[in-house]
Amino acid sequence: MRRSLVVGNWKMNGTRASTELLAKGIIAGLGSDIGDCAVCVPYVFLAEIGEIIKNSPLALGAQNVADKASGAYTGEVSASMLNEFGCRYALVGHSERRTYYGDTNLSVAERFCQAQTQNIIPILCIGETLDQREQEQTFSVVEEQLDAVIELAGINAFNAAVIAYEPVWAIGTGKTASDEQAQEVHQHIRAYIAGKDQTIADKIQILYGGSAKPDNAKGLFAMPDIDGGLIGGASLDADSFLKIYQSIKQ
Ligand code: PEP
Repeated sequence: MRRSLVVGNWKMNGTRASTELLAKGIIAGLGSDIGDCAVCVPYVFLAEIGEIIKNSPLALGAQNVADKASGAYTGEVSASMLNEFGCRYALVGHSERRTYYGDTNLSVAERFCQAQTQNIIPILCIGETLDQREQEQTFSVVEEQLDAVIELAGINAFNAAVIAYEPVWAIGTGKTASDEQAQEVHQHIRAYIAGKDQTIADKIQILYGGSAKPDNAKGLFAMPDIDGGLIGGASLDADSFLKIYQSIKQ
């Protein structure tokens, strides 16, 4: 039985004060819950949020990680730095990084490997654009995105990784994939991994991301290959995020 996981992606939102309140609100709502729940916070707030969530069930994550270990890479943040601040997770390959900042399948694979050198669990984000879906390329796109990582890191690296299927057309748009649309791709991703290693496929957590909200999360999470969610907009409100988190347990 796979554990479920719900991860908030705060993106480039909030202030010191508002993110502190948000973290405290989420922790208060989680109580002593031991399900898996994390927030990926802006780099500059890692230290502060890390202190607030220390000794709570909420885990800390970053929204990206450098593709190199250290050196003259102005503006980048390395995996060892994230490790120093207690990050358990790092997103890699989020579609906003791929679209606006030129992250490629190869650089995403390098980021994935860098995270693992520091025992940080990479959350590998994959998914197709609307155009690619309309051209019926969804499966080949996600396979290509997976292959880049499998080639560089090896399939065994997926023993300590999470996959997030995020159809690009559903991110921040209010258009959620239907339960069946999401399940179809999740099932394909799991089968593709199973073709390389059945044990890993059975245990890897595959999250859905893309306009997930309290009112649609329950249906999505009820699908057999959806193990949780990567939540953007709705994670900026403690009540909404907690409702989504609770709906996975129902
Ligand atoms: C995301 O950014 O990963 C995401 C899923 O965003 P939203 O929930 O706002 O669509």
